[in-house]
Amino acid sequence: MRNLSDINVIKSVMGKHGVTFNKGLGQNFLVDPAVCPAMAEAAGLNENTCAIEIGPGVGVLTAELAKRAGKVLSFEVDNRLLPVLAETLSDFNNVEIINEDVMKADLPKIIEEKCKGMEICVVANLPYYITSPIIMLLLESKLPIKNITVMVQKEAADRLCAEVGSRDGGAVTVAVSYYSESEKLFFVPRDSFLPPPKVNSEVIQLTVRKEPPVKVENEEFFFKLVKAAFSQRRKTAENSISAGLGINKSIVAETLENAGLERTVRAEKLTMEDFEALAKLLNV
Ligand code: SAM
Repeated sequence: MRNLSDINVIKSVMGKHGVTFNKGLGQNFLVDPAVCPAMAEAAGLNENTCAIEIGPGVGVLTAELAKRAGKVLSFEVDNRLLPVLAETLSDFNNVEIINEDVMKADLPKIIEEKCKGMEICVVANLPYYITSPIIMLLLESKLPIKNITVMVQKEAADRLCAEVGSRDGGAVTVAVSYYSESEKLFFVPRDSFLPPPKVNSEVIQLTVRKEPPVKVENEEFFFKLVKAAFSQRRKTAENSISAGLGINKSIVAETLENAGLERTVRAEKLTMEDFEALAKLLNV
């Protein structure tokens, strides 16, 4: 088995198949040999786990997942990488590469068909241009996922793992905390990749909750409200909610007051319970 985090091995196998790096697809491949085993270990994989990967690249993380999980389903949109992966992963018979854009794939159907009865863990070095959309897709799909262990840009990690009600928080923070418990695992400097991206990265883990931390009657409205509140970060929540949801400002002001909040409060100060209370009062 070749060392897939070795720069010369990556260059040679890509060269052999005529593949060049596609920046637009976020193709920065890991070259630090310690990172992929650590991610695979952190996910807690076993014989009964179906590991879902997004973007195998030349298969460096895929191989670590295949050593530990019962099955690996890996989504790769770039079909130029298929012959590369056929070669680099030829030692494993538990890996299936799915040549699809993960954002367009029918995940519930694929997972039901191929991972029936297995525990699902998502482990990936995510393409950075769609980090939040992928995470939201996975969380909102309500698939039977146990945990999501992913490498994301450092700034994205700060936002995704922030406390709701803190300065780093945003709409995605509220959504992530609604569906999961988040934790930063370890920092990965930019020179751990080929080619090195402009920014550093961090591996985070989201452990999917069995029940959300607040009881929300209408989830669609709850998330509309959250998005509206954060839509204009420099404005007060009163102004953004009023503009975002098309509700009269005086009604929003009264609602904030009824929820025990200041009229001048900003979205980043609102807690999960505050959003729950506001959603209940405004959704009439
Ligand atoms: N796992 C490899 C590693 O760690 O070296 C490669 C990670 S690289 C950051 C991201 C990978 O995601 C690339 O292989 C890229 O082609 C793939 N990719 C980008 N957009 C995708 C999409 N929409 N669906 C599936 N794969 C995608």
